[in-house]
Amino acid sequence: MQEGFIDPGGVLVVLSDPSVVGQLVSLTGLPALVRSAVKAIGLLGVFFVVLWMLERRSGADRGRYLSRNFLHDCVYTLFYQGGFYNVFIYAAVANALQPRLAMFELDLLRFLPAPVDFVLYWIILDFLGYWVHRLEHANPVLWSFHSVHHSQERMTFLTTFRNHPVGMLIANLIMLIPVLVLGIPTRVWLILYVMQQAFEAVQHAELDWGYGRLYPIVVSPRFHAFHHGREARYHHRNYGKLLSVWDHVFGTATGGVRPSRFGVDGLPMRESLISQLVSPFRMIWTWGRSVVGGTTPAAGSVALTAGRASVPRSEG
Ligand SMILES: [Zn+2]
Ligand SMILES: [Zn+2]
Repeated sequence: MQEGFIDPGGVLVVLSDPSVVGQLVSLTGLPALVRSAVKAIGLLGVFFVVLWMLERRSGADRGRYLSRNFLHDCVYTLFYQGGFYNVFIYAAVANALQPRLAMFELDLLRFLPAPVDFVLYWIILDFLGYWVHRLEHANPVLWSFHSVHHSQERMTFLTTFRNHPVGMLIANLIMLIPVLVLGIPTRVWLILYVMQQAFEAVQHAELDWGYGRLYPIVVSPRFHAFHHGREARYHHRNYGKLLSVWDHVFGTATGGVRPSRFGVDGLPMRESLISQLVSPFRMIWTWGRSVVGGTTPAAGSVALTAGRASVPRSEG
């Protein structure tokens, strides 16, 4: 049991440690989930006010917050940050897998003093997160789900939570074994988790912040804006989650003037929750048939084809 790993009120439930499954399951009571959701809304409300004022100063289009796109991102946010995904999807799967993965529980970081253990954990997971993200763009099945995140054409800070539940589950499960091998440092975890979430949310705000000389090291809103750029030459770049240094090291970084158009050209997905939930399965079906039939994917699945470009070349 990892003390302090979960907010006792259940507002923030961390995704990746099966040892918390017992705690997660104990949150399945409706009152706990409602409390969790209310707290998440309160925290995000404060965050919204701060970003709204910052975006106002930078002249951003605040009409985005009145759009259907924003409403959908609110639903995703409530689903993930309110604890519903963790309780009803992740906990059930991780709970079933945990007995089979016991051999991986090496807890290697326990030999290191704080805060070295946490810093190392954070860097290793960010490095793996970079490669998982690249895989999500290179593998047709994973791209089908991940493209939901890229379907937002009017990004706000809540777009960070626009993720298909199946894609989210696959990404979490890929990270499960590394997390078990390392073991999760418990000290100061919760506050850093909140900071990480806030940091990733800011990346999706309409702020042209590049963080100056830190641009090649940490992911800024400008850096991540390229990743959401409408053209393929942009959205198969800048995969970093927290550190942009991986993109610079492995030749997938791009920069310049912040793109103004977001989304993916040719993505067969409409701005509706049903379409976003169902379209990935249709994309996979189309791709599967093209593979079996030895034909190229149909024009409607152009985004899927683009997603299969495994290792983008550096623009230099
Ligand atoms: Zn992506
Ligand atoms: Zn994003």
